[in-house]
Amino acid sequence: MATGACGIDCSVCRLDLLGECSTCGSGKSIEGARKRGAQERIFGGACPILACAIDSEVEFCPKDCDRFPCDKFRDNRYPFSEAYLNMQQRRRQAPPPSLSPIGEGVTVPEEYWRELSNRNIADLCENAGAIRRSTFSVILPFFHSSLRIDVEKKQVCIDLRGQWVTINHPLTVLMAVVYLLNVTEAEPLGQMVGVQELKSFHFFRGPHKLKISPVLKRYENDLRGFENAARALRGDKLDLADLAFKFSVFPKIPVYYLLWKGDDEFPANLVVLFDKSIENYLAADSIWGIVNLVSDLLVLGRGTDPLAARG
Ligand code: SF4
Ligand code: SF4
Repeated sequence: MATGACGIDCSVCRLDLLGECSTCGSGKSIEGARKRGAQERIFGGACPILACAIDSEVEFCPKDCDRFPCDKFRDNRYPFSEAYLNMQQRRRQAPPPSLSPIGEGVTVPEEYWRELSNRNIADLCENAGAIRRSTFSVILPFFHSSLRIDVEKKQVCIDLRGQWVTINHPLTVLMAVVYLLNVTEAEPLGQMVGVQELKSFHFFRGPHKLKISPVLKRYENDLRGFENAARALRGDKLDLADLAFKFSVFPKIPVYYLLWKGDDEFPANLVVLFDKSIENYLAADSIWGIVNLVSDLLVLGRGTDPLAARG
């Protein structure tokens, strides 16, 4: 393993080619432990970043530690500049991306708001599992929290610890509006299905591939981190796979993430399942959007807070 716990790739360094510097390793690797031992022997102390990563069981700080960029990076001014660390901090605090499969920013089409304003709010709430707040406003359960959707103002707020905060994430707003417009009175079937069992499974290829691999990359060697991220999203733990959670994105849209850790024979694996009824309410592109939303929030690991972040 040539990449250090800090994220520096030693294998592309001339000092490594010349044998003047030995490669480092992740906080969970034998190479990292060896490097720490050598530093302690030769310099009388280890790199504080490497030592902290090993002690904290963090593989790579920039990918796996919620505290990155921490004071160990800032105090030592090594290996990254302050400007780089500030950029990392700023971008990590921004909301997740809100992109279409072709990489364009999503927006809620005007006609969707118009159609919503023409609907009978009482019927709509009954179908959606929402609560009518006023003639133009509904409260929609969302990950065991709530969204307040004001159709007249075209505004969506989220309940963050008892405070209504405006959502700064167009994909979430679009998903909420699409759900309200399309959900029917039919109840979920309580039967889990994989993407291959959906009628629209041909859709989920190429640019429409479900966004699962970033979650797997982040948590394949960190089941505890996955559990923390899932609990931050108020997921319900299930007795499936090595670790599995159900996320109640909207009342009739449960989504299940099942994670298996790897071993010598098989690599780690992550599977996303849906309720069999999902296609009664959502088209394939919306299912893609829902998985994008859940996966990005899991990678960020801070519950639904990032959706209201300014940045
Ligand atoms: S800064 Fe520390 S963690 Fe990074 S490569 Fe050097 S010794 Fe390894
Ligand atoms: S606290 Fe800092 S040095 Fe320690 S694992 Fe996290 S990012 Fe790395």
